[in-house]
Amino acid sequence: MQVLKFGGTSVGSVESIKNVKSIIDDDQPKIIVLSAMSGTTNALVDIVKRIEDNDFVIANTLIQNLKSSYILVINDLLTANKIKAQALQFVDEVFGLLSKLIHQDLTAIVSNTILAQGELLSTFIFNCFLNQEGIVSSLLPALDFMRIDKDGEPDFFYIKKNIDFLLQANPNSKIYITQGFICVDEYGDISNLKRGGSDYTATIIGSVIEASEVQIWTDIDGMHNSDPRYVDNTSPISHISYDEAAELAYFGAKILHPQTVTPVRHKNIPVQLKNTMQPQAFGTLIDSNNISRGIKAIAAKDGITAIKIKSAKMLQAYGFLKKVFEIFEMFETSIDMITTSEIAVSLTVDNPKNLERILVELNKIAHIEVDSHQSIICMVGHSVVSDADTYKLFQILKDVDIRMISYGGSNNNISLLVPSTDKIKALKQLQNYVFSKPVLIT
Ligand code: ASP
Ligand code: MG
Repeated sequence: MQVLKFGGTSVGSVESIKNVKSIIDDDQPKIIVLSAMSGTTNALVDIVKRIEDNDFVIANTLIQNLKSSYILVINDLLTANKIKAQALQFVDEVFGLLSKLIHQDLTAIVSNTILAQGELLSTFIFNCFLNQEGIVSSLLPALDFMRIDKDGEPDFFYIKKNIDFLLQANPNSKIYITQGFICVDEYGDISNLKRGGSDYTATIIGSVIEASEVQIWTDIDGMHNSDPRYVDNTSPISHISYDEAAELAYFGAKILHPQTVTPVRHKNIPVQLKNTMQPQAFGTLIDSNNISRGIKAIAAKDGITAIKIKSAKMLQAYGFLKKVFEIFEMFETSIDMITTSEIAVSLTVDNPKNLERILVELNKIAHIEVDSHQSIICMVGHSVVSDADTYKLFQILKDVDIRMISYGGSNNNISLLVPSTDKIKALKQLQNYVFSKPVLIT
């Protein structure tokens, strides 16, 4: 069985929904994971924010506008009267619930219930559409099987048991449709897998059903070798390993939720990234093979804070770094990059939540300097450190002030820390130095 996930833009309009149907309509059994239609989750986040700010009138207007957009889609997509009536009734129920929730206390359950409506809508409407087109499909309610534990990790045992049960309960379907992103927590309360979490839903399902492959369909032809939002002439990477994809997703490649490959890598289930607008394009295959050496892709992550911890006590002493790390551990903050000299250590964090308290503790043992608004530029590939062409990236030193370099920590990753104001310049220059083909002199 395959698992196919379609992102927000892939189900974002009547035309795209019809396109998805043509992609999946091949008689092979599959589970389809859908995101909310593009723009919906952002709108729902906005509604939650308005309720938080007691802006009930605006929250209500946003709800009514969103409802109108769904009615337009249904009127265009669904022509069979009975099916259309079912979809319109579902829309009425969803938006009726939203209007009611505005007036309740904004608990985590209430805000997660609001955020969940996008995936509930897209899957219901898509299932109606397939039924109208004569395709036998059934809905697998994600809230009946997708569960996370107290650490926010998927509860694989529970998920497998419950999804197997649901699949067996609907033996006549070849196509099962489920919601990405949404889940329940260890208490059974509604929760989610964080923004962009539908990718993660797809690989969690792929892992528990031992899928032959997981396909992630989006609006771009695979993972690109740099960020197309900032750099021209990027190109798709046809093949990348789990390790490389995981690093790129963590360090800012927007195409994938950072956890996407975790559930499938140890089972060696391939993940194929595909473009709904260009289904014939190969896209990117992610699996365990490393077939080429050298830097394959560059990604950048903003919102990084660098902390320099300087102390004469470090000189020829042992145990100093332990004290430093214990402070970060105490405040549950992970460190991304780290470089040291004999009397100072610089490190970065991407989560400033406990920064103030961490700095108070660090100040007790060392002199501290903090630089915020930094970006990590991460270069990923197989054997990048030992590849003969890697030297090319260091030409960047003449263009941009590099705050830190992490080289040799792993053979798959070289990271640079630059002020965020220099990020685009650095990405553009690195694209030239690392990926442009040498000009042949004849
Ligand atoms: N709809 C959710 C979001 O926009 C999940 C997803 O699209 O993957 O974040
Ligand atoms: Mg996404």
